[in-house]
Amino acid sequence: MSSSRTRFAPSPTGYFHVGGARTALFSWLYARQHGGTFVLRLEDTDRERSTQASIDIILEGMSWLGLDWDEGPIYQSQNLPDHVAKAAQLLATGAAYRCYATPAESGAAREAAKAAGNPSWKYTGPDCVIALDEQARRAAQGAPSVVRFRVPRSTGPVQFRDLVYGDQAIDPNELDDFVLLRTDGSPLYMLSVVCDDLLSQISHVIRGQDHLSNTPKQVLLYQALGAPVPQFAHLPLIMAAGGEKMSKRKHGDAVSVTTYRDRGVLPAAMVNFIALLGWSPASEGETREIFTRAELIERFNLERINRSNAKFTFDQHDARKWTDPKAQAINAEYVRTTPLDELLPHLRPVLLAAGLWQDEFDGAQRDWFRATLELIRERFWTLLDFADQGRAYLSDEFPYDPKAVQKNLLKEPRLAALLPQLADRVAGLTAYSADTVEEALRALAEESGVGAGALINGLRTAVTGQAVGPGAFVLCEAVGRERVVARLRGAPAVMASAGA
Ligand code: GLU
Repeated sequence: MSSSRTRFAPSPTGYFHVGGARTALFSWLYARQHGGTFVLRLEDTDRERSTQASIDIILEGMSWLGLDWDEGPIYQSQNLPDHVAKAAQLLATGAAYRCYATPAESGAAREAAKAAGNPSWKYTGPDCVIALDEQARRAAQGAPSVVRFRVPRSTGPVQFRDLVYGDQAIDPNELDDFVLLRTDGSPLYMLSVVCDDLLSQISHVIRGQDHLSNTPKQVLLYQALGAPVPQFAHLPLIMAAGGEKMSKRKHGDAVSVTTYRDRGVLPAAMVNFIALLGWSPASEGETREIFTRAELIERFNLERINRSNAKFTFDQHDARKWTDPKAQAINAEYVRTTPLDELLPHLRPVLLAAGLWQDEFDGAQRDWFRATLELIRERFWTLLDFADQGRAYLSDEFPYDPKAVQKNLLKEPRLAALLPQLADRVAGLTAYSADTVEEALRALAEESGVGAGALINGLRTAVTGQAVGPGAFVLCEAVGRERVVARLRGAPAVMASAGA
């Protein structure tokens, strides 16, 4: 194993954000490309939000996406003693100090500076709000205190190189002496994240661009702890159509990974789609958008990640545009082309949930089942389509689409007599196949004077309840003679109840 060590460190909040999934994927891709180690850490210190249910959502999402981790899950809450010890170490070396100014007092100092025309006031030094002797008095009385980091202000800008956003240099006077420990002694994010990344010996911190502004403080912490500073790579944010950062509160279900699983997206398609958010695996001149996991691993390149925000287009109020059209198109491609052996483990639960799974599909009906899936999936977008549009192929209980009945059956009233006649002819065929059904139908059209087109459409709707689908004769082969005959015989009843 190489020394490349990456991590994904979500704070469980109750859902798994697609942006989080993209961060996880890129960290995973980096580790896999370099033969390194991918660590999963749950930043579970917010006790209200970090319930077991929120944690499970992340773990399930990661497993669903196939982003396996080599170490963890590490629970940040279990590392708190180490964070507190590191704060003590910083206090001991003078890199941090106890601060007795109350939040109200530092807030007032901030407001006063603002009123005096300095809106970017910073907490710069132990006595910048309350004189040291007053603080000593409070200390003697056992007053509450926080621990602040003493930002070095005379050693020039804080510098680091971000592998995506390039060289960074931040004036330390733009940084507060930030709080490491609260008055109750509990550590804050800035300290915890550095301690945990150190504990896990993370070499590459890959995360959302919203953390770029935290990085100078973290770099200072590494330096104060005498520890090597990892490499940083910040990923462009993912914006909703309106140009806002995507959030579940504002943008609904399209933001949550679980939604994709529940709406019949294949994990490989999801991985492929999120890989394209802010990165292009295509080489020059290449226009394709479908990439296998192996190709993503091979091609991954932090330096080629865009700096501009990624766009995610969807309309939460329009069922057809529930997610980005590219995500839908990529999923359709995977639904149509994934080898059945790989597709079935994902499809089976969908069919089971819809009451459509039968054990014979794995036994006596295996060949038929597979051939039918191959036929019907040509037009499908998601796994749910198998249970919905595919229902008539797998079960005798299926709905008739009222629009299809109207258009393909009721418009030609003679079909009420002709479809049962077609049933008789199909029943009498010596050999049953798409070709022989077609011959029978065309002969009947000729004899009856009803257009073959009307009969074909009627056949399709009588047999599947739908107006669209595979070729009418080929689908008859898939549905099977007995069922086709029965459904053609049932057509008049369908017409009568729809026309009533
Ligand atoms: N827990 C943080 C978050 O979910 C990530 C911290 C980090 O990656 O440094 O945003």
